[in-house]
Amino acid sequence: MNLSTDHAAWLKGGTAECHKLDVYPERAYRMILLGAPGTGKGTQAQLLCERFGCCHLSTGDVFRAAKCVDPQNVSPVMQRALGYMQRGELVPDEIVIDLVGERLTCLKCDYGFLFDGFPRTVAQAECLDQMFAKVGIVLDAVVSYELPTQEVIDRLSGRRTCRGCGATYHVKNKPSLREGACDACGGELYQRVDDKAETIRVRLQEYEKTAGPLRDHYRCKNLLVCVSAADAPPRVFEQTLEALQPLLT
Ligand code: AMP
Repeated sequence: MNLSTDHAAWLKGGTAECHKLDVYPERAYRMILLGAPGTGKGTQAQLLCERFGCCHLSTGDVFRAAKCVDPQNVSPVMQRALGYMQRGELVPDEIVIDLVGERLTCLKCDYGFLFDGFPRTVAQAECLDQMFAKVGIVLDAVVSYELPTQEVIDRLSGRRTCRGCGATYHVKNKPSLREGACDACGGELYQRVDDKAETIRVRLQEYEKTAGPLRDHYRCKNLLVCVSAADAPPRVFEQTLEALQPLLT
C-alpha cells in the first residue's frame, strides 16, 4: 500500500494543503520512530509508511526544505533554527514544538503519521502528548532502533545524498554505479553538512543525552519496542513488524 501524500502541509506549514489520493488506509496508524542518526530510521520509516499508508513526518525534512528557500522568505525563527542544525546541535525545544504545533492538521490526518526525528527530548514528548490530547488521538507505538556508536559513525560518514531526489547511498556499503551521480535521477551526490565527522560526533553526543529519558517516557506508557538496526534494511523491517504486532492489533 503506498498512499503517501505530497507532504505539502507538513513541509510548508501555514495554509499549505496536501495533494491527497482518493484512497485511504483502513485505519490511521500513528507511530514514532526513535534512534540515533545513522541507524537507518529514514529507510524503515519509508518501508513502514508503504506498509501502513501513513505519512512520513520528519522535522529534519522541514528544516532542510527551509534551507532551500530564498533566505529573504525564511522567518527569523527558522533562520535561527537552521544555524543550530548546521552546527549539528539540536534546535531549541520551543522552536521545534511551535513548528509541530502549527501542523496539528497533520496529526489529525486520516492517513495517520510516522514521526521520524521528533520528539527528541522529554520536553518535546510531553508537549506532543498534550497535542494528542488536544486533537483527541491516541498513539499506537514507538519504535527505538539500537546500534553501537562506532557502527553509527561508519555509516554516517560514508553516506551521500542526491541533491535531485534525496536518494541515499554509502561510499562502501551502497555505492552509486557512477561516482558522484545518482542512479535514479543522475543528480549530484553530496555529503550533508551534518554528516561530516565533527558534526556527527556532536549529533551523537546530543542524541545520547536525551535518548534514555525519552525511551523511559514511552516505556512507562507501554508503547515502546526496541529493535536492533544491525542487519540489512529488509531484515530490520521484518523485525520491526514482528515487534509491532502486539501493539497494532
Ligand atoms: P534529522 O534529519 O532528524 O537528523 O535532523 C537534522 C537536524 O535537524 C538535527 O541535527 C537538528 O539540528 C534538527 N532537528 C530535527 N528534528 C529536531 C528535533 N525534534 N529537535 C531538535 N532539533 C531537531
